[in-house]
Amino acid sequence: MTTTPEHTGPGAAVPLGMPGTLGAFDDHRPPSGELVGDCVHCGFCLPTCPTYNLWGEEMDSPRGRIYLMKSGLEGEPMTDAMVQHFDACLGCMACVTACPSGVQYDRLIEATRAQVERRHDRPPGDRALRTAIFALFPHKRRLRLMRGPLRAYQATGLQRALRRSGLLARMAPRLAVMADLAPRMTRRDRLPERVPAVGPRRAVVGLLTGCVQGEFFPGVNAATVRVLAAEGCDVIMPRAQGCCGALSVHNGREAEAQRYARRTIDTFEAAGVDAVVVNAAGCGSSMKEYADLLAEDPEYAERAARLSAKVRDVSEFLAEVGPVARRHPLDVTVAYHDACHLAHAQGVRAQPRALLRDIPGLQLREIPEGELCCGSAGIWNILFPEPARQLGDRKAGNVAATGAALLVTANPGCLMQIGSAFQRRGDRIGMAHTVEVIDASIRGLSPGALVGPERRHGLSRAR
Ligand code: SF4
Ligand code: SF4
Repeated sequence: MTTTPEHTGPGAAVPLGMPGTLGAFDDHRPPSGELVGDCVHCGFCLPTCPTYNLWGEEMDSPRGRIYLMKSGLEGEPMTDAMVQHFDACLGCMACVTACPSGVQYDRLIEATRAQVERRHDRPPGDRALRTAIFALFPHKRRLRLMRGPLRAYQATGLQRALRRSGLLARMAPRLAVMADLAPRMTRRDRLPERVPAVGPRRAVVGLLTGCVQGEFFPGVNAATVRVLAAEGCDVIMPRAQGCCGALSVHNGREAEAQRYARRTIDTFEAAGVDAVVVNAAGCGSSMKEYADLLAEDPEYAERAARLSAKVRDVSEFLAEVGPVARRHPLDVTVAYHDACHLAHAQGVRAQPRALLRDIPGLQLREIPEGELCCGSAGIWNILFPEPARQLGDRKAGNVAATGAALLVTANPGCLMQIGSAFQRRGDRIGMAHTVEVIDASIRGLSPGALVGPERRHGLSRAR
C-alpha cells in the first residue's frame, strides 16, 4: 500500500458509511464515515504514534489508518495488507490526545477491529495464537493453574538457563516472550468478599479484582483494599465477577466482550455499590465504554450507561473522596509512567501525580517521551514481540534517565513490559502500582518495601 491520504484530500465528498456501499466492511457497526471525515490530515498525531515512530510508514500512522478505513468504506476490499496496518495499531490512543480536531480514533479502530475479526480469514498460525491467548487470559481459574508451574520454572533456575541458552526463544519464540513477561510468582492470599471501612464509613465501593491483576499481581489488589478501607470505604469484591471484557473489546471480539460486560453489569448491580473501583487501566477504560458496547442491546443499554457512570480508576476515586488516612513519609524518588489506557483513554493524568506528591518525602520525576507507549498494549507484545521489545527498551531507557529508584504505573501490562525491559538492560529498579505506594505510606513502611530486590521486574509481594 503506497497511496497516502493526500490523494483524496480533505473533505472529499463520498457517501461514507452507507449500507450497501461498503467494501471492506459490512453494515453491522462499520467505522463511522462521519468520524472518518473529521480527520483533516494535518499530521499532528504522527510524532506520538509508536508504529509511525518505529517504521516511518504513513499507513502505520493514525492518519494512514483512517485513510484505509475511508477507502474500505468507499469500496476497497479488506486486503491482507490493510489488516496488517490495522493489526499493528497498539490502540494506545496517543493520537486521540494529540489530535487538535478531536478525531475519535478510539471509536474508529474499535469498530474496524470488530469487522476484521468477523470478516477476515487470518493465517492458521495467527488464528491459533489468538485462540490460545483468549482461551487463557480472560479466565482467572486457568491463570491460577499456571501459577504453580510458573513459580517452579522461575525458582528452579530453569528460566535463567533457558534464557541464557536462547533455546526457548529459538524453539517457541512467543512462549519465550510470555515467560519473560511474567512477574515472579508470589503468595496469593484469598481476599474476603467484604472488607469494612476503617473508622466512619464514607462510601461502599465494589472492586474489580481482574484476571491478570488478580492472579499475577495479588499485592496490588490487597493494597487497593487496604487503602480504600483506610479512606473510609466498605470494599466489596463479589465472587461472581469475571473478566470485564477489556482484552476482547480491544481485539475486536465484540460478541465475547458483550458477554463479559453483561456479566460484570449483573454482578456489580447486585452488589449495590456507590462506585466500581478499578486498578487496571485497560479494564477501567473499557468499563467506562460499556454503554457504547451494549448500545444496541435493549435489555442492557441503559444499565450499561448507569454502571459506566460509576466506574472510577482507583486514583480518580481517591482524588475525588480526598484523604482521611495519615500519610507517613516515604523518602523515595519516583518516575511515574502514564499507562496509555489511563492517560489517553480516560484522561487520568493529574490524579495519580497529585496523590503521589501528597506523600511527604516522595520526589516525583517525569519520564522523557512520556506520551509514547511502552509496547505492552494488552496482547500486542505477544503478537508483535520484536517491535514491542524495541518500544520496551526505549521506555526503560527513558525511565532510567530519570535516575528514579522506583517506577510507578497503573497497569499490570506496563509493569510486566517495562520490568522485562529492565531485566534485559541488567538494571535494577523497584516497580509498583500507584496504590501500593500510597498503601506503603499509610502503613508507615520504609522505602525498602518498594525498592528492595524482591520488587524488581514488577514484583508485587502478596501480604
Ligand atoms: S492508537 Fe496508538 S498505535 Fe494506533 S494509530 Fe493511534 S497512536 Fe498509533
Ligand atoms: S491529528 Fe487528527 S486530524 Fe490531524 S491527521 Fe491526525 S487524526 Fe487526522
